[in-house]
Amino acid sequence: AGMLLGSLAACSSEREPTTEGTGDAGSSEDTVVGIAMPTKALERWNRDGAHLEGLLQDAGFETSLQFADNKVDQQITQLENMINQGADILVIASIDGTALAPTLEQAAEQGITVIAYDRLINDTPNVDYYATFDNYGVGKMQGEFIVEQLDLAGGAGPFNLEPFAGSPDDNNAKFFFAGAWDVLKEYVDSGQLVVPSGKAPASNDDWQSIGVQGWSSDTAQSEMENRLNSFYAGGTKVDVVLSPNDSLALGIAQALAGNGYAPGPDYPILTGQDADKANVLNMIEGKQSMSVWKDTRTLGDRTATMIEQIVAGDEVEVNDEETYDNGEKVVPTYLLPPQVITPDTVQTLVDSGFYTAADLGL
Ligand code: BGC
Repeated sequence: AGMLLGSLAACSSEREPTTEGTGDAGSSEDTVVGIAMPTKALERWNRDGAHLEGLLQDAGFETSLQFADNKVDQQITQLENMINQGADILVIASIDGTALAPTLEQAAEQGITVIAYDRLINDTPNVDYYATFDNYGVGKMQGEFIVEQLDLAGGAGPFNLEPFAGSPDDNNAKFFFAGAWDVLKEYVDSGQLVVPSGKAPASNDDWQSIGVQGWSSDTAQSEMENRLNSFYAGGTKVDVVLSPNDSLALGIAQALAGNGYAPGPDYPILTGQDADKANVLNMIEGKQSMSVWKDTRTLGDRTATMIEQIVAGDEVEVNDEETYDNGEKVVPTYLLPPQVITPDTVQTLVDSGFYTAADLGL
């Protein structure tokens, strides 16, 4: 972050004398960036928004940062306001990846450049770039963690598994599930993983059948409670829960606690993603087994670099030009690497400055 901030700042101050007052399109001072985040309810989006806004403001850009309470209509209104108020670039972490085509049509008419942030925007030609983490890789790490912990490759089992997937309207959720299921499905087929609730999608394409709308912790909790009450009577124990992210894992951990599962050797393996503070604390307490950490600062850095390149008229650097087909085009993408955090490695989050030791009670 420091490096990029430095380079952006250097850039804008170098340019300042020559471009000031000239209306030159290549100046950060003349560029308005609208940043649309989905919700304040999840910790990561607050961090994402604050970090990106800070970077851009330090570099001299004018910014407008909005959070949409996970409501699609609210996000559309916010985007329309940004467009009407003269935004030059929009950075959008969409709520419903299929709902923005008409809005982005308006943006295109105004010549606005659109960057899909973290989540792809589908069914529109009017998205220029995509910056995200390797979403398939996130799911794969969750699946591989389960395989290792249970020694599935060594033939162990059978174990009781309950799989969950993310919000049906989030394009990422499909990739998370596919990454995990491509690793786990052979063990379901071999009988080493059994799904007592029957909620095992027949194929990757059926992931929405176990999706949790809006990534809600409460919904995940009640779904887990229902499964435990209906399919785990009479002493059957759940051994592993595939949770695509931390907000679901929080609810699932609550349901487990409510059903008498206590931290210890018999506590189920529970996956997650984001390394949200509450979940890292749960990991420390033995209530969650891992989280796939996406250092969201690096995503902000990358997005700021893209913006800098767009404004300078340079080629925008990407590293994936084949994966993210949004139904209208393959969107040029920059993919960042995620990383597994376990209770044994939470110190990584402190060493990197993502949390302070005090945040985690360390
Ligand atoms: C993000 C995850 C996040 C989830 C819920 C996904 O699109 O990639 O990091 O946990 O949305 O907000």
